[in-house]
This record gives sequence, C-alpha cells and structure tokens, in this order.
Amino acid sequence: MDFDSITRKIESLLPTMIEWQKGLTAIPAIGPENGGDGELNKSRYLKSIVEILSPDTLLEINAPDDRVPCGYRPNMVALFKGAKPGPKVWVLSHTDVVPPGDLNLWNSDPFVALVENDRLVGRGVEDDQHGIVSSLAAVAAFKDLGLRPSHEVGLVFVADEEAGSRYGLSYVLRERGDLFSPDDLIIVPDGGNEEGTLIEISEKSMLWMKFSVIGQQCHASTPEKGLNSLKAAAQLILDLDVLHKKFPLIDPLFSPPGSTFEPTRKDANVPNVNTIPGKDVFYLDCRVLPEYDLTLVKENIFRICQGLEQRMGVRVETEVVQYAQAPPPTSSDASVVKALEEAVKYIYGRDAQPRGIGGGTVAAVFRQAGLPAAVWVTSSESAHQPNEFVPLANLVSDARIFAHVFQYG
Ligand SMILES: [Zn+2]
Repeated sequence: MDFDSITRKIESLLPTMIEWQKGLTAIPAIGPENGGDGELNKSRYLKSIVEILSPDTLLEINAPDDRVPCGYRPNMVALFKGAKPGPKVWVLSHTDVVPPGDLNLWNSDPFVALVENDRLVGRGVEDDQHGIVSSLAAVAAFKDLGLRPSHEVGLVFVADEEAGSRYGLSYVLRERGDLFSPDDLIIVPDGGNEEGTLIEISEKSMLWMKFSVIGQQCHASTPEKGLNSLKAAAQLILDLDVLHKKFPLIDPLFSPPGSTFEPTRKDANVPNVNTIPGKDVFYLDCRVLPEYDLTLVKENIFRICQGLEQRMGVRVETEVVQYAQAPPPTSSDASVVKALEEAVKYIYGRDAQPRGIGGGTVAAVFRQAGLPAAVWVTSSESAHQPNEFVPLANLVSDARIFAHVFQYG
C-alpha cells in the first residue's frame, strides 16, 4: 500500500480533528475526586464519533461507581479488523480531564477550544484528547480510503485516568483482559517530549507519605512550656534526605537517573505569629527506581521518624497516601517500541529512544498485567496547565505515526 495516500488523507482530516476537539472540550469530564460528575456525557459524544467509523466491534465496559449521578464510569473499546491475522495494535486514551484550576491564569474559557497561532487551546486538548483524536483520525484515514490496516486496531477510551484508573483501565482489564495479548502493540499517547522522540517504557515506583509531627502548642514567648512541632518537622525533612544515600542506584534510562525523595505539600499550622505550633503536617513524594522494594523504603522512613522522636520528644504519625510498586519495564525490544521507533524515523526523520520516567502513567496497569505498553506522543508538555494547548501539526503527525504503526512489520 502507498503510505503517502494515508498521510495525505490524514492531512485532509485536520478540520475534522479540530471539530472533534471542540466537541470534546465543551463537555468537561471531571472525576468525583475532583468534584466532577464523571465522563458519561463526553463518552456519549465520543461514541457518536466512533460509530461513524463503523467499528467491527464496539464494547462498552461500565465500571459501577455510585459517586457519580449515572452510577458508573464509562469505558469503551472499538475494534477495527486488520488485513492480516496477528497481534493487534492498541491505542489507549482517557476521556477524563483535570479541573482548570485558577481561571485567572487562563486567557480564554478552558472549556471552549480555540485555534490560536496554529495551536488548539483548552482544558483536555492535549491531555488526553490529542491521543483520542489522532488515533481516531488514523483509523478514519484507512476507512475513507476503503483500506484495512495490516494489524487489527483497537481504540480504547477509558475513564478515571487522572485519579488512579481503578474505574478505568484496571476495570477494563479485570472484565475483558481476554481482549489483550502479550504479543500486541500497546500505545498510551499520554506523555512524551516535544520532539516526539521519548518512548516511555519504564516507571519509577511511587510512594507518597503524610507526616504529622505532634508537639505541644504554647505562647511564642514561653517556648519552654511547649514543644515546637514546626522545628521538629523541619528537622525531620532534613533527616529524610538520607534516603538518597540509602537508595543510591543510578539507572541511565531515567532522567533524573536516581531515586528522588522530595518534601512537597505543607499544611497550615497556626494562623498567628505569636503561637508555637503543636502540630505540623507535611508530605514526601518518593519516586524510586523499580529495582528497589518500596517496603524497604517505608521501613527506612519509619526508622528515621523513630530517631527524631527520641531526639526531639515529639510524636510522628505517618500515613501512606499513595503506594505503587512499579511493574517490570516493557522491554526495549518489544514490537511496540520497534514500531514506534520506525514510525518516528519515517515521519520525523528522528531517532526515538526508549526511556524511563518518574511514574504515574496508566501504562503501569498494562505492565502489571504482563502486557507491554509504551507511552508515546509528540507532547506539548502543557498537560494540567492553564492555557493547555496542542499544536495542530502534532495532531496530524501523531495520527500519521499511529497509522504507520498500524502497518508495522
Ligand atoms: Zn493524561
């Protein structure tokens, strides 16, 4: 088949992609954790687009969730038969978005997608509607030309990616894991770099800890009558830095190449200056190389806390807020990696590299199930930001790259 006709076809689909983007952006799909009512309406609109492409199979896999008005979180799988039997190519995108945040930081209404300087701007246009519309356009190009791609293609649209995927991909794999095979090529277009050369195949483990340092509140003029929790918390933050020495491995697949242990959020303590606080709460975000067992990291943290308790007389309560042991990486020899490398070379003339990242993509759910997934997109790196955007050129080039992968081998 002449791939040039596919690439020309995809170029001609740009106005359609923009129209889809506008329709999708206009329907906020925010999960209940972020105060939203879920993905139902957006998913219905998306289904109307998918139906135009007449998939050979269209599955709706609804994850029960009584926190949202309709009582479930919608997931959808559309399968398009290929010209040959063999492994499927999957593209998995998510329908949910994060809230816009401070509206004053936006130059326009986040839920009205605008074209501006060859970019689309709006909440969700990059994360993850870029993946949604580029994968749809890749399929549409074959359909419009009356062709079947070499591989069978599966488009998966999941809910709940922004809050852990329990009602999204995890549910889909639990209910219909039979659809996927370890030989398949699985792309998650939800991360990458601006050049389109980052193929993410490995993630660090993630451990988020909450620390409550309990001292005793008193008047600031008589510190001897209390126990300053802020001072102790500050000392604990410094003590925790020793984790870098306890877990020193370096892996050049990642940037930064080592594990990270960063204090992040700090809750308010007393409202006034002349009170010594009796309780301070802060959080630590740990991103740990997959070679390490997170339980060991936790044990070390407990020991550091005990040391502080003995030295400073405070009590330290800890709570695990997030705990995700990284699954084994996708092999850099996996078909999905090879196919993406070839496609990026063909479309961009650039060499893509398999790499590791700091953690937290939905691809980990695939890897946990023994399925080799790669996270790849030509990213504007504006996800979750005000004035989130996607260059129009990326919608087109990424659709071409998906189409190229559909033809791999
Ligand atoms: Zn995303």
